[in-house]
Amino acid sequence: MVMSQNLLTEVESKELLKKAGIPVVEAKLARSKKEAIAISREMGFPVVLKISSTDVVHKSDSGGVKLGLANAAQVGKSYSQIISSVKQAYPEARIDGVSVQTMAPPGVEVIVGMSKDAQFGPVLMFGLGGILVEVLKDVSFRIVPVTERDAREMIKEIKGYPVLQGYRGQKPASIPALEQLIVKVSQFVEKNPQIKELDLNPIFAYPDKAVAVDARIILE
Ligand code: ADP
Ligand code: MG
Repeated sequence: MVMSQNLLTEVESKELLKKAGIPVVEAKLARSKKEAIAISREMGFPVVLKISSTDVVHKSDSGGVKLGLANAAQVGKSYSQIISSVKQAYPEARIDGVSVQTMAPPGVEVIVGMSKDAQFGPVLMFGLGGILVEVLKDVSFRIVPVTERDAREMIKEIKGYPVLQGYRGQKPASIPALEQLIVKVSQFVEKNPQIKELDLNPIFAYPDKAVAVDARIILE
């Protein structure tokens, strides 16, 4: 847990991103089990439940994420499990409730991040999600503003680029959709200098679109 006053929740982060035209799987805050079930029914199953707390940066580390919930009973049970396991891991955390979102079909997992360099200011990072980023550091960087052409280069220069073109029966990822997403993130951070850090991790990329399933914004 990082006690970070400046961390926006996933719900808040996704609201800002959506307004900026960046595609996200929208998340709604539920403050009770009853509310979580009502929102799930409205959204349609299967859904995903996640802890909502500005004190919890990595939600799944503390049992704060439950995927693929198929009915109201599973949502109710998961709500309680999430609250109790996060309370156990972080007794001090202030918990808003649990966010609800639809379960996105599998896609190629990629990440886009922004951090600020002392010399160059905002810098965007692009990479493939999971082990490729964490272990192999297979990522590319460009200084903001990032043009469409820069974005295309960022995508093509990672070693894992062939993965985006599809492999072992996995469908390819839309390169134009990823370019658009990167350019929009660049415009978003340019217009909002109060953003210190941004993480879209992961984004699910499909043959026709790319959608962020998790988002984290840290303000200055
Ligand atoms: P964390 O704070 O731990 O990064 P995430 O929101 O990224 O939590 O969720 C953990 C993992 O669960 C993601 O890497 C992704 O694989 C999966 N996941 C999260 N949200 C969704 C969703 N809406 N649909 C499908 N899979 C999801
Ligand atoms: Mg994540």
